[in-house]
Amino acid sequence: MKKININTATPDKPKSKIMIIYTGGTFGMAHDAHGVLVPFDFSLILEHLPALRNLFLDLTVISFDNPIDSSNIQPEHWQTIAAIVYENYNSQDGFVVLHGTDTMAFTASALSFMLPGLRKPVIFTGAQLPISEPRSDARENLITSLEIATAKKEGKAIVPEVCIYFGNELLRGNRSKKTESMHFDAFQSENYPPLAKAGVKIEFNETLIHSTNENKLKLLSKLDSSIAILKLFPGITDATVSSVLKISKLKAVVLETYGSGNAPTDKWFLDLLKATISKGVIVLNISQCPGGMVVQGKYETSRILQEIGVLSGGDMTTEAAITKLMVLLGEFGIEKAKEVIGLSLAGEITM
Ligand code: ASP
Repeated sequence: MKKININTATPDKPKSKIMIIYTGGTFGMAHDAHGVLVPFDFSLILEHLPALRNLFLDLTVISFDNPIDSSNIQPEHWQTIAAIVYENYNSQDGFVVLHGTDTMAFTASALSFMLPGLRKPVIFTGAQLPISEPRSDARENLITSLEIATAKKEGKAIVPEVCIYFGNELLRGNRSKKTESMHFDAFQSENYPPLAKAGVKIEFNETLIHSTNENKLKLLSKLDSSIAILKLFPGITDATVSSVLKISKLKAVVLETYGSGNAPTDKWFLDLLKATISKGVIVLNISQCPGGMVVQGKYETSRILQEIGVLSGGDMTTEAAITKLMVLLGEFGIEKAKEVIGLSLAGEITM
């Protein structure tokens, strides 16, 4: 890890202390001498973004030694990012994580479960166009994320949770999905309204912001990846379903169903699910629809799932379901995971 300090307030007293964690992604790309896009040197951020000086911040930047395309993100990176937040929590007012957009919703979801008791902002952002490009969205995304990370009311952080700021909207991290690969508004949160909108002013929707009753930040960093996603499609075969459900040491499967949680009622399919559940594996029903929720029992095609012990994932995103399972299985084991998977731990599900 490289660590640099940039005090943009000197010689005045900084307004806030913010840590930027730079992991990679399109955000920090710049052309090298040969015209090839490579990760830029973060110590030169003020050259790319002189407006940073106007924020009067004491910035500490921690950069991954080798910034990565977020398609290469692994749970070990989540452990690293969460540990950086945990270890620097008392000395900072907030955190901004610069991350590729491809898996940002997974990382933000994971962090929301790995850091219970969080009372400071952890704002993820990135860009669709590198900061070196004239029309880049990187500059606005970083400046506004920093403003959100510093925003306080009566001495307390206005947004004490893990969020994604992108395309003028602040979204809860574990409610977000990347839905757009070309336009600047890359993320959507269909099942929960934006926590803030940035126009001339940043307008926070304070009643929607999650706050915890816990007093102490905890770090839950044991993650178990013995899980799978099984996405249904008309024509899916017995061989495909059974090859997923029979993965050795499988502990949980996210079953991506149709509409409000519906699935085929073929005997072979239900028998495979029953056999999996009877072995103790969690089968969690998450809808393929980005909006709405699983309501097991609304249709005949989901009532049967309910009866055989498939658990409802409500209106959770797949990203939230996968990372919540990893944390619950890693930290507490399969029985506890079954008990709490349907509860709201960090505002990820509507109760
Ligand atoms: N492939 C890039 C990444 O996720 C895309 C981006 O940053 O927007 O790292």
